[in-house]
Amino acid sequence: MRVTSVAVVGAGFGGVGAAAMLRRAGYDDVTVFEKGERVGGVWHHNTYPGAACDVPSHLYEFSFAPNPDWSRRYAPQAEIQAYLERVAAEHGILDKIRLSTEVLSASWSESENRWRLRTSVGEHEADVLLTACGQLSVPSIPPIPGEFAGPAFHTAQWRHDVAVEGKRVAVIGTGCSAIQTVPAIQPIVSQLDVYQRSAGWTFPRMDFAYSERTKRLLRRFPALQRLDRASIFAFHELGAAAMTDKPWLLPFFREFGRLQIKRAVKDPELRRKVTPTDVVGCKRVMVTDDWYPALTQPNVSLITDAVELFTPAGVRTRDGSERPADVVVFATGFATHGFVAPMEITGAGGRTLAEEWREVPRAYLGLTVPGFPNMFLIYGPNTNGGTGSVIYTIEAGINHVLAALRTLDAARARTIEVRREAFEAFDRRLRDALSGTVWHTGCTSWYVDENGNDPNQWPWLWREYRRETERIAPGAYTLSAA
Ligand code: NAP
Repeated sequence: MRVTSVAVVGAGFGGVGAAAMLRRAGYDDVTVFEKGERVGGVWHHNTYPGAACDVPSHLYEFSFAPNPDWSRRYAPQAEIQAYLERVAAEHGILDKIRLSTEVLSASWSESENRWRLRTSVGEHEADVLLTACGQLSVPSIPPIPGEFAGPAFHTAQWRHDVAVEGKRVAVIGTGCSAIQTVPAIQPIVSQLDVYQRSAGWTFPRMDFAYSERTKRLLRRFPALQRLDRASIFAFHELGAAAMTDKPWLLPFFREFGRLQIKRAVKDPELRRKVTPTDVVGCKRVMVTDDWYPALTQPNVSLITDAVELFTPAGVRTRDGSERPADVVVFATGFATHGFVAPMEITGAGGRTLAEEWREVPRAYLGLTVPGFPNMFLIYGPNTNGGTGSVIYTIEAGINHVLAALRTLDAARARTIEVRREAFEAFDRRLRDALSGTVWHTGCTSWYVDENGNDPNQWPWLWREYRRETERIAPGAYTLSAA
């Protein structure tokens, strides 16, 4: 029996990519549910000033939809959003996407061998469930006591109705979002207080605009773009090797970071503050050309005393000093360990995914969980990297889904489910490899929680992920014709 219908949750890169690749493979009965009012996922929501890709765009695009027209090496947010909308239109999937529709829960019906979805507008059924909810879609705001009287918002929920021009702005956090937005707003605000808890390593971005001539060349000779993509990939694989099993490469990356600080920051006190004390790569390495220069501007202060509380007029730090602010920006990251939350997923025997994941979210190749037949998690647990492009990861995951669907078709089966032994064996191998990676050398990051659990990182090269996901390993799954 051929599996006919697929329900996809989320219309970011994962959901749009899945719908497009499924359609290319001949699976036409696909419905994508998106709670936002546009496709785009994080690229729809993150509109903060300075938002842009931190991976060169020739790698941060679908391999089946190369774009020779990126304006810059690192495309800005609006261009990435437009690209994804164009891919959806050109692959004929716009009519498959139900916008402003949140999937509240999904449960496996054992009698019918189908997924039943409860959405904000009604019910839906499908043979296969694909979640493509991203790892960075739920903003996290730390529980800092006190109440600030002015506007306060997260970078992923930027209030464009609040003019920051000429205002005193406090930015909490110094991760990837902060290092993009601080240089973007610094020239227009009167005072910018940046609250840093711990410094992160950086790498020069070396961004540049593509000339019209280059774009013409890329259009005419697509192989040139593929070559550039391959070279970016190779460089990122080198980074992945350094962070996983070749730590002797790390000092090279650290020296680039040190040099960047030395060049941009002359003041010894500021230099001390921005120089990280942890191992390079433990936190995500941030690519930037303008972060340090922005910090040296006269209207910017880098505050390293811990934020203690908000007062109606500003921010008080642990040393007792209070700094006035008109606007507070939380660049404090995301709740990254929920994966599908707040959606509730119930598998066979009434067991929920939250119960299965009580200790830590886990999935075979980041994609499948025993007890949850015909369910695939795109960009699921342990498929994030310190380097590389999540679009590459997403494509590899979708290829696995296609391989699973082909297996079902070939066997005339109705359900496919990962065997618990395969799942456990993969997990042991994964945890063993993770323990030797740079992410477990002791730093705060969105990968590892306070108990040392790491449900986010992939501890091998990306070409390994591709290799492992492109086929259904013998004995890894069970099929059922029921
Ligand atoms: P993040 O990397 O998790 O950074 C959060 C920041 O907030 C950290 O500096 C953290 O300090 C700080 N923080 C958290 N709680 C705090 C508190 N109570 N007081 C003071 N500081 C606090 O979040 P993000 O910058 O949004 O980036 C998340 C991920 O999104 C990135 O790693 C990247 O993968 C992705 N991203 C990508 C792009 C892109 O260009 N493609 C852009 C932005 C983000 P500690 O470091 O001390 O914990």
